[in-house]
Order: sequence, then structure tokens, then C-alpha cells
Amino acid sequence: MNTNVVLLLLGLVGVYLAASTLWPYTKCGACTGGKLASPTGRYWRPCGRCGGKGRRRRFGAVLLGRGR
Ligand SMILES: [Zn+2]
Repeated sequence: MNTNVVLLLLGLVGVYLAASTLWPYTKCGACTGGKLASPTGRYWRPCGRCGGKGRRRRFGAVLLGRGR
């Protein structure tokens, strides 16, 4: 493999990990703000996947132990 490609990949990983440290969470894809709403939108229950928080730790944040 080309050295420049390796350096580029390392750089991208570094940027990703730095971004994961600054912003450890991403939004939960299964709900809206931690709420799973009924079709009418009037009723809802807490989302089981994110524990009703509406956020998920990013892979990089899990790796680095950032966030809870
Ligand atoms: Zn959720």
C-alpha cells in the first residue's frame, strides 16, 4: 500500500476520533427526541433503544470511553 494512502487514512481516523471526543453523541435513529409517538402524535412512550434520551453514543465515543 502507498505510504500517502496510509497517512491519509490515519489522518481521517484522527479527525474522526477528535470529532467523537468533542461530540460523543448522535441522534437516535429509532425515535424522535427519545419519544416513540403513536400515528396521531398525541401519545408516546420512551424509546427503548436510547432509554428515552434521544441520543446514542458514536462508535468513536464508545472506543474512547466518552459520554455515558
Ligand atoms: Zn431512541
